[in-house]
Amino acid sequence: MNHLEELLRRRIMAEGPVNIAEFMALALSHPQYGYYMTRDPFGKKGDFTTAPEISQMFGELIGAWMADTWMKMDKPSPFMLLECGPGRGTLMADALRATRGVPGFQQAARIVLLEISPVLREKQKQALSGYDVEWVSDIRALPYGSPVIAVANEFFDALPVRQYRYANDVWRERVIDLDSAGRLYFDERVSMDFEAPPDPSGAWHEVSKEREDFAGNLCRLIREQRGAALVIDYGYEGPAKGETLQAVRDQRPSSVLEHIGDSDITAHVDFGSLRTCARRENVFVTDLIGQGLFLTMLGIQKRAEALEKKATADQRRDIKSALQRLTAPEQMGSLFKVMALCDNKNIHFAGL
Ligand code: SAH
Repeated sequence: MNHLEELLRRRIMAEGPVNIAEFMALALSHPQYGYYMTRDPFGKKGDFTTAPEISQMFGELIGAWMADTWMKMDKPSPFMLLECGPGRGTLMADALRATRGVPGFQQAARIVLLEISPVLREKQKQALSGYDVEWVSDIRALPYGSPVIAVANEFFDALPVRQYRYANDVWRERVIDLDSAGRLYFDERVSMDFEAPPDPSGAWHEVSKEREDFAGNLCRLIREQRGAALVIDYGYEGPAKGETLQAVRDQRPSSVLEHIGDSDITAHVDFGSLRTCARRENVFVTDLIGQGLFLTMLGIQKRAEALEKKATADQRRDIKSALQRLTAPEQMGSLFKVMALCDNKNIHFAGL
């Protein structure tokens, strides 16, 4: 049993069952033992591979999107170039390399990374050596003032969700408890605070206050300082039913209640709830589209061809396979979705 599992057991023994959000927060971001706080989980040798780690093309095209958005915003200078949850810093490094030729863009950009993990901050520092970078741990601590262009790739899926279902005339919340043999298991308890019309189907409903709060803060930032944000994640436009909590370890699905703190835990993002947050904050939101279509409209095909021209046979095979992985509907192309938020409804974003 690892430290975090021990800690969770002691907490349940002392205070009773924990809800799914408490569990996710503990497993991912406990200051000492949390998954993101203790390691670099990405890449072929890691637990999972994200789009920027699959190919430089991803970050380069996001860079092109950022530069295009900056021009459509009338080239604010200075502006804040913000990434939420930058992982290894690969996306930002590729985006900056791709925008070197855009006159004025990098001179105007104040690069800010929102990251809680000390290990990943170190990685980001290495990936972005040569650039001035600032870090914050909390979106409410961002420097105030200039317009913002933000990107969040696979960030919202790491923020905790809670799960509820309607059964025997009451809403119940999914929790994690210890059985008499001392094993962790999923249980349910009557919810005191969840309010929704009864759903006799008994299906799970996922709700994330953390995501809504984060989206609210991001929207306020965009509205008050002007700007735009690009959100990319796997998910759906809800409301929808069903539970999507999942663990991944060594590039394979793993059991949520095993290897706690040593596996990545996520839940699909409900873009519908992000849209609701944006509307509440009077921020404009684009339609939600698949990552495959988005990257295709940004010209990933052409970029792949250009890279292939300079590549060896092995590299050409890698480029082709990365292109497939990022865009094919049966791979990341349709499960991963893209949405942009903006204070100005007259901006027509590239790819959206
Ligand atoms: N965007 C990167 C990494 C995605 S993983 C990529 O695509 O490769 C999620 C990232 O968000 C990690 O960098 C993790 O440390 C960070 N993170 C998770 N929860 C966070 C929080 N509450 N605040 C800030 N960063 C967080």
